[in-house]
Amino acid sequence: MSSALDQLLHARTGPMTSDLVQRPADFGLGQIPARLQPAATAKSVCGFCSTGCSLQVHLNAAGEAINLSPDPDHPVNLGMACPKGWEALTPLAAPDRATVPLLRNAATGQLEPANWSRALERFASEFKRIQRDHGAHAIAFLSTGQIVTEEMALLGALFKFGMGGLHCDSNTRQCMATSHVAYKQSFGFDAPPFTYADFEESDALVFIGANPCLAHPIMWQRVMRNRRAPEIVVVDPRRTETAQAATLHVALRPKSDLTFLYGLAHLLIARGAVKTDFVAAHTTGFDAFAAFVAEFTPDRVAAATDVPVATLHRLAAIIAERERVSFWWTMGVNQSHEATRTAQAIINLALLTGNLGRPGTGANSITGQCNAMGSRLFGNATSLLGGYDTATPAHRAHVAGLLGLDPALIPDRGGYAYDQILDAVDRGEIKGLWVIATNPAHSWINQSRAREILGKLDFLVVQDMYVTTETAALADLVLPAAGWGEKDGTLINSERRFGVVRKVARAPGQALADFSIFKLVAEAWGCGDRFREWSSPAAVFQILKRLSAGQPCDFTGIEDYAAIEAAGGIQWPWVENRSAETGDRKRSESLKSGFRTPVSGLTERRLFADGRFFHPDGRARFLFDPPRPVPEPTDDAFPFTLLTGRGSSAQWHTGSRTDKSAVLRKLAPTVQTVEIHPDDAAGLGLFSGQTVAIRSRRATVNAVAVVTATVQRRQLFMPLHFPEMNRLTFPAFDPHSRQPSYKACAVAVAPA
Ligand code: SF4
Repeated sequence: MSSALDQLLHARTGPMTSDLVQRPADFGLGQIPARLQPAATAKSVCGFCSTGCSLQVHLNAAGEAINLSPDPDHPVNLGMACPKGWEALTPLAAPDRATVPLLRNAATGQLEPANWSRALERFASEFKRIQRDHGAHAIAFLSTGQIVTEEMALLGALFKFGMGGLHCDSNTRQCMATSHVAYKQSFGFDAPPFTYADFEESDALVFIGANPCLAHPIMWQRVMRNRRAPEIVVVDPRRTETAQAATLHVALRPKSDLTFLYGLAHLLIARGAVKTDFVAAHTTGFDAFAAFVAEFTPDRVAAATDVPVATLHRLAAIIAERERVSFWWTMGVNQSHEATRTAQAIINLALLTGNLGRPGTGANSITGQCNAMGSRLFGNATSLLGGYDTATPAHRAHVAGLLGLDPALIPDRGGYAYDQILDAVDRGEIKGLWVIATNPAHSWINQSRAREILGKLDFLVVQDMYVTTETAALADLVLPAAGWGEKDGTLINSERRFGVVRKVARAPGQALADFSIFKLVAEAWGCGDRFREWSSPAAVFQILKRLSAGQPCDFTGIEDYAAIEAAGGIQWPWVENRSAETGDRKRSESLKSGFRTPVSGLTERRLFADGRFFHPDGRARFLFDPPRPVPEPTDDAFPFTLLTGRGSSAQWHTGSRTDKSAVLRKLAPTVQTVEIHPDDAAGLGLFSGQTVAIRSRRATVNAVAVVTATVQRRQLFMPLHFPEMNRLTFPAFDPHSRQPSYKACAVAVAPA
């Protein structure tokens, strides 16, 4: 192990991407100090959101990043970047970077520097002791959608096939679990069908619980390039930035979206807008669905959603009469107590109107984190690597064969979801937790309880870029990790596009790439031999290709990282022996009969052009359930509904990285704010800039009031980036995806 450690620490100072960069002959910048003179550029996909913008990182002669600019030639961002992308290098130089391993001294209670050997020995010995005393499944990990795909795959494989663990999840549970489950049940595989060109090719774009102006600004720029004079519809309780730019804003009651969508289906069926040929040839369950929504009459839906009957008819007419309609959703749908059925109600609208597989159409989930899609395919948490089913013996045997492992090493069931892992910690079943590049002490719903639970662990390991996160502050061991720009690997964006992240800077101190840390843990654990082939991210990419063969996500046709970069990213599927030039529709069969992977052009492809879905019968499913009451309705004591969401395009989640940038801090409020309607503010004697107290049944927090009619009466809105908000949220979960319902809880507001 020590030789592996020596090699990795030595390799930290080795070359970065100098063999891959373009070197212009002369930039004409003779007056600038040499260390600041650009000598070359490297391309790297942005590591914040799921859009997958390509950035050109400018390097000096030593191969060190000086600054960056958006890539003008990339098919995703077309030369644009949002403020976070422009500032992507700044968080790397933050003074609170984790630079050495830190171990908590039991006597003093303080975190103290330790060398890597001691840190790894302690990690392995504590986790093995826990397994010995409490069972193999008394350890767990919580990971992220922010590391590269190869790291996710190695972590999941190491934990389950090397360390004997079972319970693991990632913060993808907080954003995309719903879409994953909804697609899998409806289409037979977790397969977002769209390509970004669909933003530009729609006649009507219907955004449900999505605010791309702030959350996905470059995707919104793609909407702005649409030359078809589209209707832009926003379904959202709040008059968001996107709603203000829309042709129709449907301001429905919070969490009434499932009823609303069933009401729309009712109207579309009633007006004869069903594409009967498509439904008959490519779906199952339509008749039962039509019978179910018959009860969702306009009057009933209007009463339950606060949407006027005339608005329901207007939107139904838009969907019925426009040739190309695309439906887009994100966290307003996914973070709900009945999220999966709501996402599937959107899918049902696309199915019944035949809006799938054609340009400008689709039931399209916009992903959150830069590599949530990688996590969904290769995280090895709920699905087996490559989208295989853990519970199916043939799948386990197949994956074991591809990895050269004994099939007995592969668990025959899925582990706990995020909330179940925390509950298991709470009741003493899980004693050791490894948290990688996420910050549950800030981001988990009902945060105070989450912090209490983390305090019950025997041993908490936090692997992160920073020592200052709320979760790192609770750790027994902190492992210093490299960040975006300090390592290589791939990300998969919202439209299924692989992009490459390049090492353009050296991690500070003794910080190592997550990949290297996982390899060292494998050695310390004594299972390193099982992962010899997993020698580098590039080598793991080849393993993942093998795992994808025959699956809907088949990317065996992507040779290597250089091929991805040369093409400006490549969407899956991209099968071996494809012909990009002729758009051959080569197909491949998988273990699961019925999987087929249509393939055409290299740079822009959408799924289901042939109407074949991934269920064994090739058909999509209409899935539905009756709406359920909101988990925490308002009452006299807590008369306001608290809405939450992104507050600025300059902030990212808990701000661990974006808060490090002085530029980004200037572009958004630096304190927790709360939006309140002018009538409510007047009634309570509140004014903009005043500090107010927001009280829920779980906590009271202070925020600065912003009086604005963007929220409706008796509703409040708080941005998610500050730690206060999640002290208020109510811990309800979607029963299918187990995604937390962050978007609505009951609160009161008063002067602080
Ligand atoms: Fe990065 Fe997303 Fe901004 Fe693009 S839109 S620059 S991927 S944060």
